[in-house]
Amino acid sequence: MATRFLLAFAICRLIVTVGLTLDPTELLRLEVEGFLSVEPADLGAASRDFGGMKNAEPLAVLHPASAEDVARLVKAAYESGQGFTVSARGHGHSIKGQAMITHGVVVQMSGSKKVAPPRVSEKFMYVDVWGGELWIDVLSSTLKYGLAPKSWTDYLYLSVGGTLSNAGISGQAFNHGPQISNIYELDVVTGKGELLTCTEKKNSDLYHGVLGGLGQFGIITRARIALENAPHRVRWIRVLYSNFSVFTQDQEYLISLHGQAATQKFDYVEGFVIVDEGLINNWRSSFFSPRNPVKISSLNADGGVLYCLEITKNYQESNANTIDQEVGVLLKKLNFIPASEFTTDLPYVDFLDRVHKAELKLRAKNLWDVPHPWLNLFVPKSRIADFDKGVFKGILGDKTSGPILIYPMNKNKWGVKNSVVTPDEDIFYLVAFLRSALDNGDETQTLNYLTNQNNRILKFCSDAGIKAKQYLPHYTTQQQWMDHFGDKWTVFSKRKLEFDPKHILATGQRIFKPFFNPSAPLL
Ligand code: FAD
Repeated sequence: MATRFLLAFAICRLIVTVGLTLDPTELLRLEVEGFLSVEPADLGAASRDFGGMKNAEPLAVLHPASAEDVARLVKAAYESGQGFTVSARGHGHSIKGQAMITHGVVVQMSGSKKVAPPRVSEKFMYVDVWGGELWIDVLSSTLKYGLAPKSWTDYLYLSVGGTLSNAGISGQAFNHGPQISNIYELDVVTGKGELLTCTEKKNSDLYHGVLGGLGQFGIITRARIALENAPHRVRWIRVLYSNFSVFTQDQEYLISLHGQAATQKFDYVEGFVIVDEGLINNWRSSFFSPRNPVKISSLNADGGVLYCLEITKNYQESNANTIDQEVGVLLKKLNFIPASEFTTDLPYVDFLDRVHKAELKLRAKNLWDVPHPWLNLFVPKSRIADFDKGVFKGILGDKTSGPILIYPMNKNKWGVKNSVVTPDEDIFYLVAFLRSALDNGDETQTLNYLTNQNNRILKFCSDAGIKAKQYLPHYTTQQQWMDHFGDKWTVFSKRKLEFDPKHILATGQRIFKPFFNPSAPLL
């Protein structure tokens, strides 16, 4: 009763402050198994994200206990005379407020204690999970059966619905495709409040729309994720290059092996750029031994920049006696700097969960909850050398503020019908500037400086005609979104009309304005 009173009070306050003409009883009438909250702690948490650059407080937060709860809320929004928006929030790891809203209700998908736990089918090698499940929990539930998902993100404290709304990529993508290529079935609550099951064959437009769909067509309440036998251990290798074209040739050679037998290819191919000596042991993992520090100057770096190839080979303990030989054969085909090989060996779970260790270290130094002006780009293979010259050896200078990942992927592993957009070439690179802004007196670390640098990088691509696509995209006008989607825009907007005709969902992406309040700011 107290909550209902608070909720009514909060809604009335909102009506007065922003002029929203929502009938408070519409929310009060909502019968849910979970609960609607207007507690300051809940509203505060839903107003922030990992980017740390945006803030927007919702009207209320729904902690759902089931897909039906989500459906009831969205249906109420759809049928509401005056209208309100609904945004799913996974673990809030967006950068620019993509899961935030002001004129509506946030559905806090992750962290709900009441939803069904993951259910593994050993026979059919899949797991059914709640849309807000974190990948770390998906992993621990499948490992009980000796199984694991095939395709990952580098960091596992992200929700299934959140990464599937983007793509979900890591070093396995060259082989298995992104996470969205490894989903058999979804349950989705559309913008009309219908709860539908969709697959490649059934409600296929919704299935493809939602995968990489930035939350625009529905809220994913269940995903059926493909599994494989989980390896026990991982041989994790880093080797250095001073020449960019030798580095990319090796990376492209390694991803060309995707069709080979498991023993004849690595399982994970990533890499990163080192423009600043301090970054060799960057926050993603301290890897190179402090007793054996790598000096850029001693390695004859081309233009002051080094490139690190990062590869892994998974294995079962029963095959431990052949792993050295398998890795040795594969490494012989590569052209890295002699004696620049760094190897470690660890349990599979520790490898997958590596970034969390870095998170804990940064948290201990109060360096995790800082602004993160990240920029992620897919750069076509044909222009990656120009990007190197103009950005790594140009715009960045010799300073940066976080890891810069670079690795290629095979486009044929990405379903063409899904919503995500990639460059129009068979191979494209992810280039990820994972920046942390600091207020430590160094101008090159400030939010302003780094944001300007991101804009310079985007302008450089545009001026040089490099047809890069943003990953985890952020734009402020619909024209920019139309340019981003290119040929896919027609299908994207048609799907919006079909599945979320009143533009209720995920308005924090700033793609479509809600019909009930088109003049309101999008957040
Ligand atoms: P949120 O930020 O909560 O939501 C993101 C968007 O998805 C919002 O628009 C939201 O409305 C929508 N959404 C959320 N849940 C659902 C749902 N159930 N149904 C429909 N829509 C939904 N990405 C990679 O691909 N690879 C990486 O290696 C990687 N590493 C990362 C490391 C860190 C430290 C961080 C902070 C992010 C990383 N990301 C990576 C990016 C990450 O995939 C995205 O930020 C993703 O959106 C985060 O998921 P979330 O659960 O926090 O989503």
